[in-house]
Amino acid sequence: MSFGPHITRRDFLNGALLTVGGAVLGCRTPQPALSETPAAAPGTLGPDWYGYGGVGDYRLSHGNTPEVVETAHRLRDGGYPADFTRVDSRETYDLVIVGAGLAGLGAALEFSKRRREGQTCLMLDNHPIFGGEAKENEFDVDGVRLIGPQGSNSFFIPEVPKDLDAAAGDARYYAELGVPREFQFRDWPASEKPLRFGRDNYEHLVRGLLEHTSLGHFFAGKQGGTWAIDMWQRRLAETPLSQDARRTLLQWYGLGAMRHYETPEAAARALDIMSYQQFLEQELHLGSQAARSADLLLASAVGLGSDAISAYVAYELPLPALSDPLPPDLRRASFPGGNSGFVRYFLKRLIPDAIGGTNSFEDIVTGPIKLDALDRAGQPLRVRLRSTALSVRHEGDPSSAGTVRIVYTRDGRFHEVKARAVIMATGGWINRHVVRDMPPECREAYQQFIHAPFLVANVALTNWRFLYRLGISAATWDRSEGDFGFTCNIRNPMQVGGYQPPLHPDRPAILSFYTPFHRPGLPARVQATQGRMELLTTSYPQFERSIHAQMVKLFASSGFTPEKDVAGLILNRWGHALTVPFPGFFGGASGQAPRDVVRRGYGRIAFAHSELVGWQHWGPAADEGRRGFGQLASALSSS
Ligand SMILES: Cc1cc2nc3c(=O)[nH]c(=O)nc-3n(C[C@H](O)[C@H](O)[C@H](O)COP(=O)(O)OP(=O)(O)OC[C@H]3O[C@@H](n4cnc5c(N)ncnc54)[C@H](O)[C@@H]3O)c2cc1C
Repeated sequence: MSFGPHITRRDFLNGALLTVGGAVLGCRTPQPALSETPAAAPGTLGPDWYGYGGVGDYRLSHGNTPEVVETAHRLRDGGYPADFTRVDSRETYDLVIVGAGLAGLGAALEFSKRRREGQTCLMLDNHPIFGGEAKENEFDVDGVRLIGPQGSNSFFIPEVPKDLDAAAGDARYYAELGVPREFQFRDWPASEKPLRFGRDNYEHLVRGLLEHTSLGHFFAGKQGGTWAIDMWQRRLAETPLSQDARRTLLQWYGLGAMRHYETPEAAARALDIMSYQQFLEQELHLGSQAARSADLLLASAVGLGSDAISAYVAYELPLPALSDPLPPDLRRASFPGGNSGFVRYFLKRLIPDAIGGTNSFEDIVTGPIKLDALDRAGQPLRVRLRSTALSVRHEGDPSSAGTVRIVYTRDGRFHEVKARAVIMATGGWINRHVVRDMPPECREAYQQFIHAPFLVANVALTNWRFLYRLGISAATWDRSEGDFGFTCNIRNPMQVGGYQPPLHPDRPAILSFYTPFHRPGLPARVQATQGRMELLTTSYPQFERSIHAQMVKLFASSGFTPEKDVAGLILNRWGHALTVPFPGFFGGASGQAPRDVVRRGYGRIAFAHSELVGWQHWGPAADEGRRGFGQLASALSSS
């Protein structure tokens, strides 16, 4: 594993060395311990799987940890007892929320507002840090602090709701949590040649937003390949594409909404019966080239490409032919750690001591996490990390039982909790194994879900002059055999109080590779499974080598060398990152959607996680948690 010469000694000591040292010396710190190493999974994932984690509070929790992967696979393979008669501790709460991502936090916020005097809640999460997919990485490159997202990335600033109680999604939580509406970004120096920057890791993929970024598309070729800069604005003129291909692509790219529907439900009934590719080919007679061009945005947003994704998603996301172009002044924003900023706002509201400092934007978004504040006896909400729920089952018939028994594992031991109600703010792939008395119709509904993997590779650079020389801040390429990824970019980093990351080609920056694993043409489930195999069976050094090789392929001609330019790499692997909204996911022509069966829940258990929405998003994720709480409100007050 190489870190490059530019990661400071403090950086290295904080991350890798402590990790290795802790494991070798068998160090154990009292719970909840950031300094504790997520154990490498015996027999499945090698010791070189997880790799370097950066510095700061998130350094031991980047993507799924080896321990999380190993425990989940053991559960799937029937490696735990069915009844868990022997446990090391027993506790009782009114409510248990499994999952401390945005859905779980939405449920916890509702609990904190609606709980009766004396009611208690325990939140369990299997990772060493809360936030689920909305976490962050931190680097220290030659004394410069750099923060980047591990997954969940960015947002549009929503309108101020007229009636907060009636509001939902982003608008509701944005207002309720008091998130600011104006942000500072770096001004690009007038002395440099003009360059445009996305404010997140998605803008450069979206028609109507990509114009804000200096984007280069790399066409591989015999002589090392060529770049087409701002190719859409230049009407593909500098690309090696045939005239026919250009005509088709430009026709597709220029299309506004070709179908108009009275309501989203009417749109879903009409469009959720075919893939976006089928819509383009059958209804508009556009060649598959247009579909391939849409793949990267779709796969980056919902896991797989046009051949696998419902046309209804293209109606909801801004894709040509089903949506109009976005207004030209619209911009996205991304907190330093992406949507972990929202997670921090939730935590600050729920357990104020959990984030050090005041209620200022700066302190909430960049302040230290106080893990020992999370799980204190006597507080109404306790958050317990590194704890995987293995069994959730009513004590008796679900229709009449007064309690649910939850067994979770922590540090290799089993613990029991009893609760009057349980919210599973987790994911369908694991709920099927954890929830033991799940009704058959719910299990069957879950079996229809497809989960796609995703890798966010954050590369810390000492400088990015090699991009500047090309005149770009973002790159895309068509992945061919042996390549890594499809895109990378540097954001214009949000400036927050004392956190002032630079934006200059000779200063450090994070180059992020947002990497889906779509394989157009294969059945959707096969694409997801093969992608997950690739994600989970590739070691850190193998990924590091192929990322460096890809960067050499793209940027060697403009002066890139890994030894000089790369300071460090963090891999964030998400095995079941995104639910795949296939045709029929939203109910198709019949309106009967598998997710509606899941949302019904049963007895004292509710299922509330963002994949039920269909396109995963921070605000709707929290809404799911709120819905889950509402569903169980009467169960919480009855015994
Ligand atoms: C790469 C990527 C980019 C994204 N970009 C954006 C974006 O730009 N904007 C946006 O709004 N949204 C984005 N999203 C989507 C958004 O982040 C998610 O929808 C949301 O964060 C998911 O919240 P959740 O609570 O449903 O699930 P999660 O975040 O997955 O949280 C569930 C938690 O439960 C834990 N868990 C699971 N099983 C158990 C168990 N048995 N015991 C204990 N704990 C368990 C999980 O490990 C996890 O920590 C992105 C997602 C990804 C993956």
